Amino acid sequence: MNKTKTVRTIKSLRAQMNDWRLSEQKTALVPTMGSLHDGHLSLVKLAKKKADRVVVSIFVNPTQFAPNEDFDTYPREEKRDRDKLQNLETDLIFAPSRKQMYAEDFSTRVTVDEISTGLCGASRPHFFGGVATVVCKLLLQALPTMAIFGEKDYQQLLVIKRMVRDLDIPVSIIGGPIIRESDGLAMSSRNKYLTSKERLTAPLLHATLTQIANSVQAGKPLAAQIRSAKSRLKKQGFDVDYLEARNTDNLRPEKQYIPGKTRLFAAAYLGRTRLIDNLLVK
Ligand code: AMP
Repeated sequence: MNKTKTVRTIKSLRAQMNDWRLSEQKTALVPTMGSLHDGHLSLVKLAKKKADRVVVSIFVNPTQFAPNEDFDTYPREEKRDRDKLQNLETDLIFAPSRKQMYAEDFSTRVTVDEISTGLCGASRPHFFGGVATVVCKLLLQALPTMAIFGEKDYQQLLVIKRMVRDLDIPVSIIGGPIIRESDGLAMSSRNKYLTSKERLTAPLLHATLTQIANSVQAGKPLAAQIRSAKSRLKKQGFDVDYLEARNTDNLRPEKQYIPGKTRLFAAAYLGRTRLIDNLLVK
């Protein structure tokens, strides 16, 4: 087994990507903030199926955190991450420093209108600008054939697709399905923040989305189902940020259920942990 190499500079990333491009190998980039779990690893496995070479970036991006958010406490476990990526025979890890990514007088920000405005964009107004900026940089640094993102962060996936289309960035964007714990909780690096009591409650977020989906598929009205689901979540101890039905292609609000087009989106706090999830109603 070859040893997975870690590079920390844009120059060495580009040199390796250039070599692979010259030998006509397809490359896939999987951007992450590290603290890797099976959700991340599923994207690496998908990348390995689709490309000859797989690069995983690990960078806790400061520009997508607001000052009151968890940038300082966000889990950082690079050694363990490197072992996991080695086990999957990942070709390259790009783990740049903050200085490598952002000059002290860095002053450019990519904003993606419309699709970024509701849902997580409403409660975290800084977030998608930070994500779009760092992903734009990573795509231009690596210029991979494709980049893979999880549907767990579905709005983020659409924001990135829109940015790449609008800015003519020559990279295909591919989504991978949400990976869940056996009790339905969507895997997330932030699940580590949950107390053992909160961890028992957390799967109810996905269970609630599933209940709404089943009810509307059985003909019950969407708006009423969402209203009662919100009050159930509150009783169970969640502080609900949003629970909404949106069109899966453009995120426009859906008043009525359209099979295969309506996607349910939820964000809710359990204590200090913000959980997000989404579900396509087939
Ligand atoms: P993060 O490290 O949280 O920035 O996530 C890096 C990538 O992994 C993003 O594209 C996420 O959407 C994806 N991801 C995170 N959790 C999951 C999950 N449970 N299933 C699938 N993809 C995920």
